[in-house]
Amino acid sequence: MSEAKIVLGEGPVPARLMLIGEAPGGNEVAQGRPFVGAAGKQLNALLTAAGLERSEIYITNVVKFRISKINPATGREVNRPVRKSELIDGRSELLREITRVNPQMICTLGNSALQGLTGEFELMIGDVHGRVIVREIDGLPRNIFPLYHPASIIYNRLLKEVYEEDLRFLSEQMKHTLMT
Ligand code: URA
Repeated sequence: MSEAKIVLGEGPVPARLMLIGEAPGGNEVAQGRPFVGAAGKQLNALLTAAGLERSEIYITNVVKFRISKINPATGREVNRPVRKSELIDGRSELLREITRVNPQMICTLGNSALQGLTGEFELMIGDVHGRVIVREIDGLPRNIFPLYHPASIIYNRLLKEVYEEDLRFLSEQMKHTLMT
């Protein structure tokens, strides 16, 4: 069995804004960087449209290795759904990362990131996206702004407008947190 390849977070430390995804995919593992595949391209386009600069954002994942299995029919490595236990395992390193980066705002991308970060597995992105929720992380209150996962737009074009509106609101919030 081969060793799982780790993809660490990247970006400025400290950073005002931190984005958290679920886990790297095949492209991310190949390049050793988070969000560089199809979901990453989608994310870059959305950030640009909202006037947010990727180079100023710290980007990471709850789980730092690819969540995959071997497809018995093809013998190829494919992604599989993340297990709750894998999110729980990734959480302690994620909390240390947050303390290091010390962001004013944390955006979780999708349900896994939202649940993995908060440890609240009943929380659903459809109920809380596009607004700030505050949670105590490692002893400090942190602003969390849940967003859908950028890959969800690839398969559901209707979500694009919702996503764009959420991001516009986020960039307004970021201007506000700069001043406070
Ligand atoms: N999806 C994620 O959640 N993270 C990545 O780094 C890439 C795709």
